[in-house]
Amino acid sequence: MIPGDGIGPEVIFAAQACLNATGVSFEWEIHSAGEGAVSRAGSPLPEDLLESIRRNKVALKGPITTPIGGGIRSVNVELRRKLDLYACVRPCRLYPGVPSRYQEVDLVVIRENTEDLYGGLEYRDGSSEVRELIAWVESHGGGAPSLDSAISLKPISYHGSARIARFAFEYALRQGRKKVTVVHKANIMKYTDGLFLKVARRVASDYAGRIAFEEQLVDSLCMQLVQHPESYDVLLLPNLYGDIVSDLCAGFIGGLGMAPGANVGDQAVVFEPTHGSAPQYRGQDKMNPTAAILSGVLMLRHLGETEAADRLEQAVCDVVREGKFVTFDLKSGQNGFGSATTREMANAIIRSMESEMRSEKR
Ligand code: NAD
Repeated sequence: MIPGDGIGPEVIFAAQACLNATGVSFEWEIHSAGEGAVSRAGSPLPEDLLESIRRNKVALKGPITTPIGGGIRSVNVELRRKLDLYACVRPCRLYPGVPSRYQEVDLVVIRENTEDLYGGLEYRDGSSEVRELIAWVESHGGGAPSLDSAISLKPISYHGSARIARFAFEYALRQGRKKVTVVHKANIMKYTDGLFLKVARRVASDYAGRIAFEEQLVDSLCMQLVQHPESYDVLLLPNLYGDIVSDLCAGFIGGLGMAPGANVGDQAVVFEPTHGSAPQYRGQDKMNPTAAILSGVLMLRHLGETEAADRLEQAVCDVVREGKFVTFDLKSGQNGFGSATTREMANAIIRSMESEMRSEKR
């Protein structure tokens, strides 16, 4: 377990309490990451943390702050890269009782997690690298960028695109989903997004007759999603669009406090809420622990603990539907009046689960 920083420890320890109450016996190894880990271990992503995840093959992780525009590189991106967690899976399901503009939403965002503009290939304005890159572009007949530019590279590979497309279709089959929509901007980025699309088409042909396939430009998708989220099932996206669209989808289901996620690789899976560390709320015990708890539900399912997963998800569902012990973000229209703290909400979920377990025994 990596509690993270900002609101991370509050929501992750709440999730841990819920997971411990399912009856599954856990042995937790707790590790810190991010700026907090630098003073302790000399690195924002200490080797013992990576070794622990490689050995255990699963982790539950809280969000970690990334300074904007400078400072340390994103620990989250680096963790995904080091463990080759190539698929980010973010199910977006609207639970009854959650305040939302929508009636019905049940879709899954599958985001490529290792390539694209998140590869960390960035060059500062005024640097010698940028001057060399611009000279190279000029000598290859391109319209060279202005000399005062900063430059990021967007690599998208055949291998990276094929494995995420295959993952999306296999996921759809396993989960009984009907359709995969590949999202791109290949009309403008003909080679990078063009490759992602071309490979997705090829993979889709292996699933013809079993899983429907459609293609959509990312801008058009955003408009259609906002109007008709119920028309979508599994969305397959390159890294950057996937990041943005999954926050958009969280808005359908009650906000970031309700959106769980998993970063999946062949060797390990790291479960974490979609939301960030919301540092301005740190230590206030008021943020919604549901995204972290539902990430724990995904972890239980991954571990084959289906009964415990069902029990915990049902308890979340019951507490949210009742609407009594829920955090401020689920008390819309009441200015947060009467909202529960993070701990109170987690305790209500535990009580609900325990009372269900007692009545099952009787
Ligand atoms: P954020 O997700 O932390 O917060 C945005 C807003 O969403 C909050 O102000 C709040 O209104 C709402 N929100 C988030 N979590 C919530 C919860 N559990 N319950 C209720 N409401 C919630 O996004 P941000 O402010 O843009 O980013 C803050 C930091 O988090 C940045 O440093 C960013 O890099 C980092 N971040 C980390 C991860 C990760 O660790 N995987 C993911 C996203 C952002």
